[in-house]
Amino acid sequence: MGLMTGKKCLIMGVANKRSIAWGIAQSLHREGAELAFTYVNDRLKENVVELMEQLEGHEQMPLLPCDVAQEGQIEAVFEALGERWGRLDVLVHSIAFARTEDLQKDFIDLSREGYRIAQEISAWSLIACARGAKPLMEKAGGGSIFTLSYLAAERVIDKYNVMAPAKAALECNVRYLAHELGISNIRVNAISAGPLKTLASSAVNGVSKLRDVVEERAPLRRNVTIEEVGDVGLFLASHLSRCVTGETLYADNGFNRMGV
Ligand code: NAD
Repeated sequence: MGLMTGKKCLIMGVANKRSIAWGIAQSLHREGAELAFTYVNDRLKENVVELMEQLEGHEQMPLLPCDVAQEGQIEAVFEALGERWGRLDVLVHSIAFARTEDLQKDFIDLSREGYRIAQEISAWSLIACARGAKPLMEKAGGGSIFTLSYLAAERVIDKYNVMAPAKAALECNVRYLAHELGISNIRVNAISAGPLKTLASSAVNGVSKLRDVVEERAPLRRNVTIEEVGDVGLFLASHLSRCVTGETLYADNGFNRMGV
């Protein structure tokens, strides 16, 4: 029996095989979890379907549309899952977005609209998803929600721009949700992952350079992989982390601990 046998887990944020959410999905699947996926649009749906086909039992896995910027789509996901599964044990929120122009201009020039979009999709959406998950997790006697953050939430990372305050808000949301949902035995955490080459990070200038710096200076002298972040996700999803909530857990080979 696997660590996640019998657990129902919703994965939000697979775009392709490089997605952190895909690394997490594989770790949960390996340990026997039942998975459901969302996709943001028809173009990316094809990728998600192709990836799901690699998983045993994929025919049974719910696949639901969800663009968190579209009114009503988050609610529709949890309504559909409620009908299909009746309960939920784990919610993986691996979603972020900022317009390329807002990642490239100077921080001081950020527009009202660019700031709003990054906050809404990357930080507010966690609150809305947690609201949808809550009644289903209560039916399961509790649950685990976790999201993906980055070091720029608390340190200045050049060129991370509009996404930095979005990640700071996201980590704050984790603490407030953990506080409110603890009474229902629902845990809420964040994984702060080291830099990875993904679709989302390709919009941030200088990710390759960041990876070079990590390799040179992180205590473990290497970059993380989506499989490694996936296993940290497995820890947060499973009963092994049952006393951990409201945390930002670094999966970055120790890079965040370094000074000069
Ligand atoms: P990714 O592009 O594979 O994943 C981002 C996901 O967000 C995609 O699946 C995309 O469809 C989804 N998304 C964007 N807008 C959406 C919307 N309106 N509605 C629903 N979904 C939407 O890239 P990733 O790097 O795996 O990113 C996953 C998470 O990890 C993000 O929160 C990202 O900020 C975070 N993160 C990434 C890195 C990195 O270096 N890649 C490091 C730390 C944290």
